[in-house]
Amino acid sequence: MHTATSHPDGPSPLQWTRREAGYAIALFIVAVLALAVATLKAQTPLSVINLDSVLFFLLYGLFTISIGYYHPNVGYYSFDRVAQVASILVLGPLAAAWINGLASLLYPWHRLRTGTPVREVALASLHNAGLMTLVVLSCGSLYTAFGGVAPLTTIDSNSILRLVLLVLSMQGLNDLGMLAVLKLGRRDISGFFQSFAVALELGSGAAAVLVAVVYNTMDLQLLVLLLGVLSLGMLALREFASMRMSLERLVEERTESLRQKTRELEQLATQDKLTGLFNRRYADSYLVKQLAHSERAMATFTIALADLDRFKQINDEHSHAVGDEVLRVVANTLSSRCRKSDMIARYGGEEFLICFPDATLDTAFKLCEELRLAVEQQDWSSLGLQSSVTMSVGLAQSRPELDANEIVNIADQRLYAAKKSGRNLVVA
Ligand code: GH3
Ligand code: MG
Ligand code: MG
Repeated sequence: MHTATSHPDGPSPLQWTRREAGYAIALFIVAVLALAVATLKAQTPLSVINLDSVLFFLLYGLFTISIGYYHPNVGYYSFDRVAQVASILVLGPLAAAWINGLASLLYPWHRLRTGTPVREVALASLHNAGLMTLVVLSCGSLYTAFGGVAPLTTIDSNSILRLVLLVLSMQGLNDLGMLAVLKLGRRDISGFFQSFAVALELGSGAAAVLVAVVYNTMDLQLLVLLLGVLSLGMLALREFASMRMSLERLVEERTESLRQKTRELEQLATQDKLTGLFNRRYADSYLVKQLAHSERAMATFTIALADLDRFKQINDEHSHAVGDEVLRVVANTLSSRCRKSDMIARYGGEEFLICFPDATLDTAFKLCEELRLAVEQQDWSSLGLQSSVTMSVGLAQSRPELDANEIVNIADQRLYAAKKSGRNLVVA
């Protein structure tokens, strides 16, 4: 019902790792040994089994495996449980294990046509054959050990319990096997237990009982009708499952692209285009948050308002484009010298606001002196400027009784004082 696969057409090809490959081979060997022992110990030899039935269940097995759908993470779901349970109830667990094991061994090889490498196909084939053989043999034997009848011809309340045990144990063992291989490959098992898949398994079990009883009572016309109806049902369910998968995939893709767009928009809304620094809008809301945070933590922070000196002159003497380049260079200088935890924004045309979250006025003063010098000592001649670009800075420390605007105003007044005192100064 639920098998490992490697498929070029599916959404996430499963490539067998070394550990998984070892596991698949070991599982196959165990299955072959179990089958050999069971065959040797069988009371009725396999040779008494009608060849038509063997052929029918082999083909029916292949057919039911082929009607399936790929789950992006956890492999291939198909309707082979119908053939497996039905064959147990018609031929007994041993013959059913041989036939369904063979069907699982043969089925994956068609993927060679679609370009799947031989190694991947062979490992899927060995793994699936091993798992299915063991599931059919052990759960089928459990069923007969508990008094389950094969061939089953009628259904009464006792047999229903045993049949439920058969179907549930097969599903449980199958899922355990699949979980083992997925865990071994450290794969994402999200979506492994889906109510839809579980309902399909149980429904398949019920359908299989019906197939077996009709097969055993040898009503050929009824059997053909039943198989026809079941096949149509399986095809419809497969369509439904694939449709659901592709819808889920589509939703996931769209959601991801929306997330990406939202991230881009968020960035645009908070970023200054010219310099890549934060914009004024971000800086204002940052300050409000920072104020609340430092009040809670009983801490203070310091802000710096920096304004380029005589910037209008640069624009006028050179060009607006050179002015823009100067703004970018200053922004880079500030960013490269501040810490990651500092917030730097372009607060106005040629005005920058820096927030030092844990700094006192003294520390911030020293830092800003360094920044001021770094700007002044930049190689401005490469932009064709004859003299250095300088900046004036006003500082303000947060206090519980001040709101964000008032703190910025204090910094602005000190900036004005720096301008008045001759520019290229830090005032605290
Ligand atoms: P001060 O030393 O007193 O600050 O003098 P200033 O010339 O720097 O001040 P003012 O406010 O007179 O001029 C600021 C100039 O900055 C005027 C404006 O054209 C220019 N400016 C504002 N935004 C931009 C921008 O994005 N790019 C460029 N190139 N110039 C800008
Ligand atoms: Mg200026
Ligand atoms: Mg200005």
